[in-house]
Amino acid sequence: MIIVKHPAELNRHLSELKSLHANTGFVPTMGALHAGHVSLVRQARNDNGICVVSVFVNPRQFNDQSDLAKYPRTPEKDLEILEAEGVDIVFMPDAEDIYPDKSRNSFDLAGLDRIMEGYFRPGHFDGVADVVYRLFNMVKPDRAYFGEKDFQQLLVIRQMTKSENLDVEVIGIPIVREADGLAMSSRNQRLSEKGRRQAPAIYRVLRQASETFPALTPSEVKSEIIRQIDDNELLSCEYVEIVDGDTMHITDNWQGGNAFRICVAVWCENVRLIDNIALTK
Ligand code: AMP
Repeated sequence: MIIVKHPAELNRHLSELKSLHANTGFVPTMGALHAGHVSLVRQARNDNGICVVSVFVNPRQFNDQSDLAKYPRTPEKDLEILEAEGVDIVFMPDAEDIYPDKSRNSFDLAGLDRIMEGYFRPGHFDGVADVVYRLFNMVKPDRAYFGEKDFQQLLVIRQMTKSENLDVEVIGIPIVREADGLAMSSRNQRLSEKGRRQAPAIYRVLRQASETFPALTPSEVKSEIIRQIDDNELLSCEYVEIVDGDTMHITDNWQGGNAFRICVAVWCENVRLIDNIALTK
């Protein structure tokens, strides 16, 4: 496994590998890797001759600087995991390697950046799109893999790729969960013992809603989810929305749309968790 820090080094190794193998799969991460990341890596390896993973905690996507400072960092363990998965290149740049100057790229995100995560974390998706655009330009992958755990992010990246006419196939990978249903997340490490015990309630509530949803209106489903989450004394719902899974348009009825999704952000004590579930009619 080749570990590189500088974009020029990355380019050199990539040119060599690309002359030997067809197709490059790319998995961008912020490290503190878990089984959710591994599932993206396995798919990327399976589909492509070359598998590249980046580990970079992107300062531009944190609207809250204390969240950035507290973000878990486990580089040695990350490298062990990636080595065991047979990754070809790990790109671990510093911020100066990605942002040599203060310039920022901005994109037409088609309003996807103004709802839910975009509304509650102003500037977050500008930062995400900027870093992914830069990473795509450096790695020049044929396919890139993103988790449905960050469902809105997946659609933002698809939109950025479309608006910039990039020749990258953006592939979504299902959410990997703990045995008790909690969506795996690097942030779970920051939960207290008590919080960790209560956090799986988020998925239980989403599952229950997904099993009973057509009997209620979307607005009733949302109220019921908020009521059940806020009933738990450690949990507090920041938002719940029901969106069309293709367009991310918020819906107030069950007509049209083929795959609606319920998306939530929930505070568990001082840790912000997101999750979502697909609704199948
Ligand atoms: P992060 O390191 O949190 O930026 O995540 C890197 C990639 O892994 C993103 O595309 C995430 O959506 C994806 N990811 C994170 N957690 C999970 C999970 N539990 N299941 C599937 N994908 C995930």
